Amino acid sequence: EMLLEARDVVLSFGRTQALRGAELRVAAGEILAIMGPSGSGKSTLLHCLAGILVPESGEIHFDGRRIDNLGETGRSALRRDRFGFVFQFGQLVPELSAEENVALPLLLNGVRRTKALAEARPWFDRLGLDGLEERRSGELSGGQAQRVALARGLVARPRVLFADEPTGALDTLTGEQVMDLMVSSAREQGTTVVLVTHEPRVAAYADREVIVRDGRVHALTAEAVA
Ligand code: ADP
Ligand code: ADP
Repeated sequence: EMLLEARDVVLSFGRTQALRGAELRVAAGEILAIMGPSGSGKSTLLHCLAGILVPESGEIHFDGRRIDNLGETGRSALRRDRFGFVFQFGQLVPELSAEENVALPLLLNGVRRTKALAEARPWFDRLGLDGLEERRSGELSGGQAQRVALARGLVARPRVLFADEPTGALDTLTGEQVMDLMVSSAREQGTTVVLVTHEPRVAAYADREVIVRDGRVHALTAEAVA
């Protein structure tokens, strides 16, 4: 049973055809890496799957229902309730402490502050962030900030975690630590991961890799790599 599907998705920005019939199926519990050169349409595909962008034609299906034809309100509710996000630059709210940043998705879901912070706290131990709960993002290293962003992406136990170049701003070792934690935490809670990266070393953490070229998705074969 597929959890997430893109069917013949086309999307243009002005004259740029970013997606030209993209097809992708993601199984529940799978950790999928979307690879491909810069500008090939990886981020656009991720944004379509996540209900951020709406295709001009084609369909997106999540958990047995079509989601691309929901209105902005419906897609926004879906993102809030079912999806988690990690981006290249953590995008923590600078005015909030690390633990408030982690608790944010729960607070936005209407969980009360005390309970949200209580659910955020174990993530600091789990991700090696003990003692950093009160720090602002400006007082964290790049790797620490990205682990806080990872905790925020997973704290509400999303069905799908969307990660767009999550290690892009990190050195190799720090990036590998973040990937280790992402994969083990996602597996532990059964969260499906859709990861965009151009780094083979990062894609190697996934169960499966696909390649986007010129707005279409290809299976990882020798031909696609050439
Ligand atoms: P990738 O993630 O593989 O680097 P993107 O999905 O970001 O590729 O972009 C695919 C193509 O669409 C590129 O040519 C990019 O410049 C263009 N593009 C992406 N987003 C926008 C946008 N908001 N406005 C205009 N062009 C865009
Ligand atoms: P990434 O591929 O990691 O998303 P980009 O620099 O391609 O990084 O895109 C960053 C943001 O800018 C995205 O939201 C994307 O949609 C947008 N974007 C990308 N290309 C263009 C473009 N040519 N014009 C306007 N916005 C763009």
